[in-house]
Amino acid sequence: MACVKIATSVPDLPLSNLPRKAILAAATHRAPRAFMDRYGMRLGAARFVAGETLEHCLDVLAGLNADGLYANTTLLGEDVESRGEAEQVLAEFTTVLDRIAERKLRANLAVKLTHLGLLIDEELAYANVAALVDHAAERGNFVRIDMEHSGVVDVTLRIYRRLRTEGRDNVGCVLQSYLYRTPEDLESLLPLGPNLRLVKGAYLEPPGIAYPQKADVDDAYRRLLEQALTGGAYLAVATHDETLIEHTIRFTGVHGITRDRFEFQMLYGVRPQLQRDLAARGFKVLVATPYGPEWYPYLMRRLAERPANLLFLVRNLFAR
Ligand SMILES: Cc1cc2nc3c(=O)[nH]c(=O)nc-3n(C[C@H](O)[C@H](O)[C@H](O)COP(=O)(O)OP(=O)(O)OC[C@H]3O[C@@H](n4cnc5c(N)ncnc54)[C@H](O)[C@@H]3O)c2cc1C
Repeated sequence: MACVKIATSVPDLPLSNLPRKAILAAATHRAPRAFMDRYGMRLGAARFVAGETLEHCLDVLAGLNADGLYANTTLLGEDVESRGEAEQVLAEFTTVLDRIAERKLRANLAVKLTHLGLLIDEELAYANVAALVDHAAERGNFVRIDMEHSGVVDVTLRIYRRLRTEGRDNVGCVLQSYLYRTPEDLESLLPLGPNLRLVKGAYLEPPGIAYPQKADVDDAYRRLLEQALTGGAYLAVATHDETLIEHTIRFTGVHGITRDRFEFQMLYGVRPQLQRDLAARGFKVLVATPYGPEWYPYLMRRLAERPANLLFLVRNLFAR
């Protein structure tokens, strides 16, 4: 099957998006990357990344579990360009599932299809993710397919549908509220009884396909979460936005949607007190907790979400 083409140009975005745009654009430049590769972990990347090794990450997952939180993990990385690399990633994820089972952690796995070979061949990515989903099923575990930039949304949803229609039910995918297309994607997935994670969206997308204004992204998120919950999906409400979290709690209460139909998800290092408060209120809260040496693009997306995080890094720089 044909390779998937990715957009590499930076599209025009309105002024209100300038800091976000600048950070995401810098993510593709060599100089900041070289600097961050060298100093980033010490400067603060460790706030968002649970170490560079699996064993370190497993200890972090155990700590989250001890605090009453669920977790998922992933080896950071994306856009692999050779079959050999994709094979290594598959082997590492297989080990992750085994180690989670051995340590009896309440944690599942998240994967990116471009990390499993999607840019080389759709069939390769499908075979790799199917093997992981089957391996997870044997261990009573679950695999979430992350959603990447808009260039791979169609193929990601195609692979997810294929896995589900072949009878695998321990697999979920992600929808992004900033994309205009998402209400239709959601409608078409609902007959599968899907397990969905709903996010606002973390990539730089042009205004022709994604809402440029945050208020519109937030409104779309609210509509989509209502559509998913009333449409019978299991929903992971993946946001740190307290207004949307409280809306979910009210909405599910009014509509008699029980707590086994949804969960909250947040990122490791972001709003940890809110994570614990929701767990203390009896809600399921999962903390997405990645690890690995390839943390640079992930960190840049976290900085772009909240440019104030840059100050945190700069403060660490001068504190030494
Ligand atoms: C579990 C999980 C999985 C995700 N998976 C994907 C995915 O597969 N594909 C994808 O495109 N995106 C993914 N995202 C990222 C998502 O798209 C958003 O970019 C991110 O969640 C920030 O948006 P928000 O919903 O928290 O709302 P915002 O309105 O951006 O933030 C709400 C509040 O949360 C806090 N906050 C948010 N982000 C940060 C941060 N980085 N640092 C510090 N504080 C912050 C701030 O207090 C902010 O005011 C995921 C997010 C989560 C939580």
